[in-house]
Amino acid sequence: MVRDRLLLAADGAGVVARLGGDEFVLLVEERRTEDVVRRVLEELRRPVDLDGLAVRSSGSVGVARPGDGASLAQLLTRADVALYAAKAAGRDTSADFRPDLQAAVADRLGTGVDVRRLLAGEGGVGSLEAHYQPLVELASGRVVGAEALVRWRHPERGLVLPDAFLGAVSAGGLDARLDEAVLREVAADLARWRGQGLEPVPVSVNLSRGSLVDPDLADRVVAVLEHHGIPSGLLHVEVTEHQELPDDDVVAGNLEALVAAGVDVHLDDYGTGYTSMDYLQRFPVAVLKLDRAVTTTVDGGRRPVVAGITAMASTLGLDVLAEGVETVAQRDALLALGIRYGQGWLFGRPEPAADHVRRVLGGGARATGALEVPAPRETPTASPQRA
Ligand code: C2E
Ligand code: MG
Ligand code: MG
Repeated sequence: MVRDRLLLAADGAGVVARLGGDEFVLLVEERRTEDVVRRVLEELRRPVDLDGLAVRSSGSVGVARPGDGASLAQLLTRADVALYAAKAAGRDTSADFRPDLQAAVADRLGTGVDVRRLLAGEGGVGSLEAHYQPLVELASGRVVGAEALVRWRHPERGLVLPDAFLGAVSAGGLDARLDEAVLREVAADLARWRGQGLEPVPVSVNLSRGSLVDPDLADRVVAVLEHHGIPSGLLHVEVTEHQELPDDDVVAGNLEALVAAGVDVHLDDYGTGYTSMDYLQRFPVAVLKLDRAVTTTVDGGRRPVVAGITAMASTLGLDVLAEGVETVAQRDALLALGIRYGQGWLFGRPEPAADHVRRVLGGGARATGALEVPAPRETPTASPQRA
């Protein structure tokens, strides 16, 4: 079927061959390249009829041109590199080979290999670290929790942020394993802090799709908490609104079981993804986390949208926490809308466990219960949300 569409797109202008799997090669006259690429993408975009069901599909195209005496084998490798770049650019598009792409692709492939070795516990590729970012009560600056954010301490690349390797983790089907590694680290940190006589604030851990669809998730989480003797109230989990989750009993069952065990569920990145009532109805959510993209516009045009979300959250008895609060103006605008909690550079960046202890848990800040943040311009009216 794909073959027919490709033949149609090539319009007799070249050769169509299947390399294997879902990869095809088209050899066409160079002057016709743009035209054929455009038609290939159009053809592959047409829905496929599966027993009366229109299923949408798309393709990606990598283009390599002869000219510098490259052999056929070299051209195929270059087309493959360009294809990789097209996929990375969001699929349903094409990319032309450029020499600098080769390094970028090697880098990505290297990341994938390293990630696999890392999560298999092999040496030489560094280690994962949980960094902690404070969650605060906006009116007082009091720290009410912390979000654990994963970082990869790489021997050559230094501290690598999640955006640079989570793609490779999920492409390798390893996201549940990464979540588990972070959870274990967080549990070990919490246990150590309690052992030192500190009073840690609850820590939120992000869960990926791979974790949420695992029927054993709740049991695994509870087992880790029990192993370290940690009260379940010290752990919260975040489910992102950006990820489409299957509408079955497994995900909801997992979250119900976690809540029953005393672990709160927070809905992450709200306001830019599906922004639907769907997850709120299906899942036992306690806190709505407004995406940073919403927070940055709260003192501008998006104000009515945020007011609407806040009203809905309040009706549902949910707390609202705004992510990415960077300025006092944003903080004040959030307070004026009745939003109680926030997280962002205004209050503190994600930092290694030792710094979290020093700045948030130990000594000064914890003793007064507040980070040093400018006082709000006005006292907010009490909101009906529960603490
Ligand atoms: P997220 O869960 O929405 O985490 C918040 C992100 O916003 C973090 O990025 C944090 O560093 C950043 N951030 C916080 N305050 C500010 C601010 O004021 N300004 C700006 N510009 N950024 C701010 P980070 O650490 O790079 O993490 C990115 C994403 O990676 C996270 O988004 C989360 O979806 C994912 N992630 C991080 N750690 C884990 C993990 O352990 N497991 C899973 N499954 N995903 C994780
Ligand atoms: Mg999060
Ligand atoms: Mg978020």
